[in-house]
Amino acid sequence: MNFARIFGVSRHRLTTDGEGVTTLVAFNGCPLRCKYCLNKASWDLSKGRDYSPELLFEEVKIDQLYFLATHGGITFGGGEPMLQVEFIKAFRELCGPHWRIVAETSLNVPFENVEALDPILDGYIVDIKDMNPTIYRLYTGKDNDRVLHNLKWLLVSGDPKRIIVRVPHIPDFNTDEDVARSREQLNALGVVNFDEFQYVMR
Ligand code: SF4
Repeated sequence: MNFARIFGVSRHRLTTDGEGVTTLVAFNGCPLRCKYCLNKASWDLSKGRDYSPELLFEEVKIDQLYFLATHGGITFGGGEPMLQVEFIKAFRELCGPHWRIVAETSLNVPFENVEALDPILDGYIVDIKDMNPTIYRLYTGKDNDRVLHNLKWLLVSGDPKRIIVRVPHIPDFNTDEDVARSREQLNALGVVNFDEFQYVMR
């Protein structure tokens, strides 16, 4: 059976994670260990609830009229949604082509996952952290080779406008100059939509 563990379903989000009215669906499981992660609940696979694509569709379809009227839909986040290839594919079959489906992702996933999901997804919000591999490793505990490979492929395989890249100012990990350098490098790769912001410490 096709199940995924989900730790949150949040309705009626307006333009926070893509166009229109969206429902955020947050999967458990993440390959990274970001120092200031706000979703540490996603690291614990014992938390959350198991959903089949059918059960999730039944729960979120209450907002179908909003999605269709505002060109909104589902934002899959987490955790790392791009580890859930079969689940998202099955969900798309249930909701049909008119809901907008966006992945809020680190892109630190196998290339096969990106290739398999790209025909199904309408957009991406990519949390790039920092383009500098040393800063990335210190902040997340992982290398960013896969991120760059996957992002480059996405930029040439479809419209770059479907991708928003988040470029955070991360206290104690990067400087304003580092962020500016990341933006320059991303620009050179063909990124056109940026979301530059300051991490707020809680
Ligand atoms: S990628 Fe997101 S969910 Fe995963 S550790 Fe980093 S901030 Fe947390």
